[in-house]
Order: sequence, then C-alpha cells, then structure tokens
Amino acid sequence: MPALLPENLQKKVADRLAFYQDLGIALFYRDRHTESAFQEQQIPSTENAIHSTQIPHEEPTLPKPLRKPDLQRLASAPPKPAPLPLPAAPAPSLFDAADKIAGDTLLRIRQDLGECTRCKLHKHRHSIVFGDGNPKAQLVFVGEGPGADEDAQGLPFVGRAGKLLTQMIEAMGLQRKDVYICNVVKCRPPENRTPEEDEVTTCSPFLLRQLDVIAPKVIVCLGAVAAKTLLKTNRGISHFRGEWLDYRSSKLMATYHPAYLLRNPNAKPEVWKDLQKVMAVLGLQPKKGKPA
Ligand code: URA
Repeated sequence: MPALLPENLQKKVADRLAFYQDLGIALFYRDRHTESAFQEQQIPSTENAIHSTQIPHEEPTLPKPLRKPDLQRLASAPPKPAPLPLPAAPAPSLFDAADKIAGDTLLRIRQDLGECTRCKLHKHRHSIVFGDGNPKAQLVFVGEGPGADEDAQGLPFVGRAGKLLTQMIEAMGLQRKDVYICNVVKCRPPENRTPEEDEVTTCSPFLLRQLDVIAPKVIVCLGAVAAKTLLKTNRGISHFRGEWLDYRSSKLMATYHPAYLLRNPNAKPEVWKDLQKVMAVLGLQPKKGKPA
C-alpha cells in the first residue's frame, strides 16, 4: 500500500493509536460496513450447516408497545349512557303525609277548583270536567283532558274514546259506576291538542288531591300525559307500558289511551293484557265473551 503520509506523521498516528489501544479503545476506527459485509460472506461452519434445515431461530422480539391511551380524548369523550331505570313516582315519604290535606274530600277539591281561571284553558271551555264515578273506587282511570263531548256534557270519557273505555271496563267485569274516571287537566285544550306544561303544572295538583282522597288500589294511566304527570318522567310510555309501578300507596299501570286504540286497533290485545294484570290484582273475573 503506498504511503499516504510522510514518515514523521505516520509515526505520530501510530503512537496515537497505540495510546488509544492502551486506554482499551482499540479498533474504534474500524469501518462498520466492512465488518458487516465480512460477516455476511462468512462460510457457514459445520454446525451452521447442520442447523440450516431447521426452522430458523428467530430473535425474540419485544412486544410492540401498546399505544398510549389518548387521555385527553378519553376525558372529553361523553360517557356511555347507562340504561335508564323504569320511572317511579317519588317514593312515599314523610313529606307525602304532609302533602296530603287532612280531611280532604272530593267535594272540597271541587269547591277549591271553583270557576277556575288559573290557566289559559279556561278561555274556551264550556264546562270543567272534574271527574266521575265511585269516590271509594279501588280502580281509577286517569286520562289526558276532556274533548269536545266531555266539554259539552261536563263528564269524562263520554265521546268515542269514552265508549271504548266503557267497553274495556265492562270487559273487566265492572261497570263505570264501580270505578273513578278523571283527567290530568279539567278543561278542554283547543283542537284537542296535548295539554301544555304550564297547564299540567297548574291543574295537576287537583288530580293529585283526588287520588289522595280516593286512595285506590290501582291507578291506570291512559296514555303518556297521565303517566308522565304521575310518575314525573319524560320517558316515552312504550318503555314502561304494562309494567307495575308504584304511585304513593297505589299500584300504577300505564297503558295506551283509548283514542290511540281507535287509530291503532292492532294495539288492543296489548292493552287487554295490561288490563288482565289489573284484574288479577283486583281479583276480577272477565266478563264472558270477547272484549271489543
Ligand atoms: N280523552 C281524555 O283523555 N279524556 C277524556 O275525558 C276524553 C277523551
């Protein structure tokens, strides 16, 4: 190899390398590419040749690091909603007893209602539809609000939906005079629209007093408005229809409104099933023959 450096320099480099070697850092200058190329070209030893037909031994690989959870994203992600429980009217408590008006009667409630002008529904009504039936009934039906026929007659459920309710009551082996029937609001909403929140809030205390006085064994809520009012829930009626729920000291069953059944007769068997559960609790035998 031709000398690239003058002789005196070559000696200096050799001395320096000897110095590094003394320090234990020999060969630090070796070209890595040259080394790996060298290793690749090595002729396999006998041992390597024997093992060459075997499954090549793989270096154990480290498990891939798990992706760090994106804590920020997790913190801001909305939590998964838990399944909602069935609604329940506020459990009877000491306060319920205080809520009740001692010595209250249906007559007194009617007198307190008077010629009510507490909400806007009074403007178009002909009659206040307070309620009708047995003041000691074991079974109370609660509807939504009077329609045109009820407004005209001053009695609940006397129109088309009322006729269907009467048939249902009779199919249960009862008569209208055996039960009590009332509504959440006592005045007809214009065009039979659903009562508005302020109307329900204003009128429902009279319904609650009626139920406290009658204290029936079973309350049947006809439709969502009655159920939502008594159970203080916004959940749709289909989530709890046909289930036994508690309302103060009464059992409560929500079922479809007869007006809904007039539009959807296919739902009648479901309502009949609900009413059969009510009958079982009240020890009633169905009237002979098929219900309407
Ligand atoms: N619908 C009701 O909710 N109540 C009635 O009294 C009549 C129809």
